[in-house]
Amino acid sequence: MGRMRKFVDAYCRKTGTTVHPGEGVTESVVLGLAHNMDTIGRPLCPCRFYPDKKEEIKHRTWVCACEDMKIYKYCHCLLFVAEDGNPITEYLPEGHEGREIYGIVKDPTPDKGRESRAKAEQREIDRKERPS
Ligand code: SF4
Repeated sequence: MGRMRKFVDAYCRKTGTTVHPGEGVTESVVLGLAHNMDTIGRPLCPCRFYPDKKEEIKHRTWVCACEDMKIYKYCHCLLFVAEDGNPITEYLPEGHEGREIYGIVKDPTPDKGRESRAKAEQREIDRKERPS
């Protein structure tokens, strides 16, 4: 738990995001990440369903920080968000669930994060070929 929380705080600084202001949101996501770390050895995103977690971690897609976060700066667990608690959606492709749910939420710190932005094209191919 402590190790995951340190990772989360460091990743917030790196990406210019903040943890969710709502009580309990951050704690429950961090607990889920720590549980996956303890049981399967990787911080698999706790906000999704996987038919087989061990199979899933063979892919990098949903290991935190996930591909959507590293490419689009979008965290669907609401762990890494803007100060008002909304997830950043402005870089998401059209039709992505985040755009449909939240509309366009601008990135308040565009100079930070999106370390894998060059992989956006490949991500959309993967999303179609291996929906998850
Ligand atoms: Fe981490 Fe991505 Fe899940 Fe957010 S959505 S907690 S960045 S894996």
